[in-house]
Amino acid sequence: MPQAAYPINIFGVPMDLGQNRRGVDMGPSAIRYAGLQQRLQSLGYQVQDSGNIPVPIIEQVRHLSQDDHMHNAGAIASVCQRTYEAVRKAQSDGQRAVVLGGDHSVALGSVAASLDAADRVGVLWIDAHGDFNTPDITPSGNVHGMVVTSLMGMCPPPLLIGERRLQADQIVMIATRDLDPAEKIAIRQAGVKVMSMSEIDENGMAEVLRASLRALGNVETIHVSFDMDSLDPSVAPGVGTPVSGGLTVREGHLIMEMLADDGRVRTLDLVEVNPILDERNRTAQVAVELAASLFGQRII
Ligand code: MG
Ligand code: MG
Repeated sequence: MPQAAYPINIFGVPMDLGQNRRGVDMGPSAIRYAGLQQRLQSLGYQVQDSGNIPVPIIEQVRHLSQDDHMHNAGAIASVCQRTYEAVRKAQSDGQRAVVLGGDHSVALGSVAASLDAADRVGVLWIDAHGDFNTPDITPSGNVHGMVVTSLMGMCPPPLLIGERRLQADQIVMIATRDLDPAEKIAIRQAGVKVMSMSEIDENGMAEVLRASLRALGNVETIHVSFDMDSLDPSVAPGVGTPVSGGLTVREGHLIMEMLADDGRVRTLDLVEVNPILDERNRTAQVAVELAASLFGQRII
């Protein structure tokens, strides 16, 4: 196996403050236990695991002043600031970063790092959900549902990390199938491209991904933020907010294989694995397989 051109750096962010189910903080352990580092090494990469970004537990932050419209925002923002700095450093050292959540709020830090790392950056938000609420319209107050809006500068501090804001033409959502009513309106108004599950059913995954990559035709690098609830719960049951009618395992792999061929992906988030809700670590195993496909594993 030839030595791959760039090293990979893994960061765990055991964050569970962005939603209200316990267990997603164990996601990084579950994905490591499923053999992420060894799998990527077997593809010829030099792989470093930088350990976890420290995250306070809910019992430590619950007593802090709380905003009902964005729970634990201050604590989430400090973790995401540290995540931002760690991922930025890896990117400027020429490494590919793999960020293990934790709930999807970790992407406030990782995507912000990608946006500041290059001039023209695209984001693929692969998720059953839009994560496009704001403190004004959120039904739950959970920050993991406000990540894209925060990245676009539509949420208030402290949810704004990094220098640059994501523009609507820099992001494509894929596998979307569960949007809150006000969130739907906000996405349409912002003009974000949504490749929903119905689109995938109608046109097939390959065509949907080709169209998504065409929409990101002029970006230099791509950040993939992969929420494991994009997959169907029958194949990825270990997630906090499962929604039926999701991606098959093969559709997930096809996305990753096509992205490997595209060659522009620099940073990957694998988020929302909740081992407490999982069956024998299946969801973390699927996450590892998908990462391997993204980094070039081929059937033959
Ligand atoms: Mg999400
Ligand atoms: Mg989701």
